[in-house]
Amino acid sequence: MVKAKKYVLINYFVNQPKPTDLKLVEEELPPLQDEEYLVEAEYFSVDPYMRLYVLNFPLGTTMIGGQVAKIIESKNPTFPVGKRIVGYLGWRTHTIISPNIDNSFAQQKPYLLPDIGDLPSSLSLGVLGMPGNTAYFGLLEICKPKSGETIVISGAAGAVGSHVGQIAKILGLNVIGICGSDEKCKWLVEEMGFDFAINYKTMPVAARLREVAPQGVDCYFDNVGGDISGIVMYQMNLFGRVAVCGSISSYDADTSSLPKCAILQPALVTNQLKMEGFIVRRWLDRWNEGVIQNLQWIREGKLRYRETVTKGFENMFDAFIGMLHGDNTGKAIVQA
Ligand code: NDP
Repeated sequence: MVKAKKYVLINYFVNQPKPTDLKLVEEELPPLQDEEYLVEAEYFSVDPYMRLYVLNFPLGTTMIGGQVAKIIESKNPTFPVGKRIVGYLGWRTHTIISPNIDNSFAQQKPYLLPDIGDLPSSLSLGVLGMPGNTAYFGLLEICKPKSGETIVISGAAGAVGSHVGQIAKILGLNVIGICGSDEKCKWLVEEMGFDFAINYKTMPVAARLREVAPQGVDCYFDNVGGDISGIVMYQMNLFGRVAVCGSISSYDADTSSLPKCAILQPALVTNQLKMEGFIVRRWLDRWNEGVIQNLQWIREGKLRYRETVTKGFENMFDAFIGMLHGDNTGKAIVQA
């Protein structure tokens, strides 16, 4: 009899999530039925969306999230023992998967890990998974970048942001990142190939952006929202494009106390900007295209990645809260 450990939501997050909002419980798993298979988690993803999205589920729900897991028992020939899958199975160590039941909250069923050669399987939670495709489709489809243009990326040293900046460099743009430490700024410029990076915690962003982008900004890939976004949008050029990917600066806020409307309209009207929110699953039918292209860029040495890995399922919460506070550079991962 296999026992699974899982984190269950017992209180909705209010402001900053607390360890006591989740409870670690054990559950005995039943024997497999026909067509079912059992997986054991190897890597978990901790992502900003979890902070908000879990509020749509009833208390008692297993904390949501993606994982890479190894098949350890199977009654399904398509999913044989030893293979790995990527799936939105939540914060749990062992899971029985039935192909007939969609136990994923993300409208994406578990899928076999694609052939990525000797690269680590955890990349399927980052550069070769959801964040990588968010960068790829969000940048190409929403910003529609052109060579020679200038792009600003907020949340630039995270999983999505660091990836967006590198694709933009591949496409010949001038790339400016905004992030929360000098160390991250240095990494973006020296290792990720960004042209400039601005530490929003220590630098006056508006003045610094005017200095490094006197030509103005054509594309803005927005991961954080709030004041930073207002500043960038007021420095945009005619027909600029804003991809609204995330708004992490407000995820811990009490939504009833948030200002309902920043005064962005003058910037939008005067420069005829286009601002569009998106969710990556819009491109589920093109998922492999993003993975294959990102893999090719890695193989060609054009796309680099970093993971911030926390060890131990018992440290899931710390990794999650650490990521929300900016402890991660690149993709935040937990190794089971
Ligand atoms: P990251 O790896 O970027 O981690 C989150 C980062 O946010 C932290 O490292 C921290 O970096 C930064 N941050 C935290 N608080 C603030 C704040 N108040 N102001 C500015 N920055 C802050 O996460 P992801 O790359 O996974 O996600 C980035 C964004 O993209 C998130 O908003 C997420 O919700 C969104 N997203 C959207 C998707 C979609 O389909 N639309 C899909 C995936 C992600 P720092 O040190 O710089 O502060």
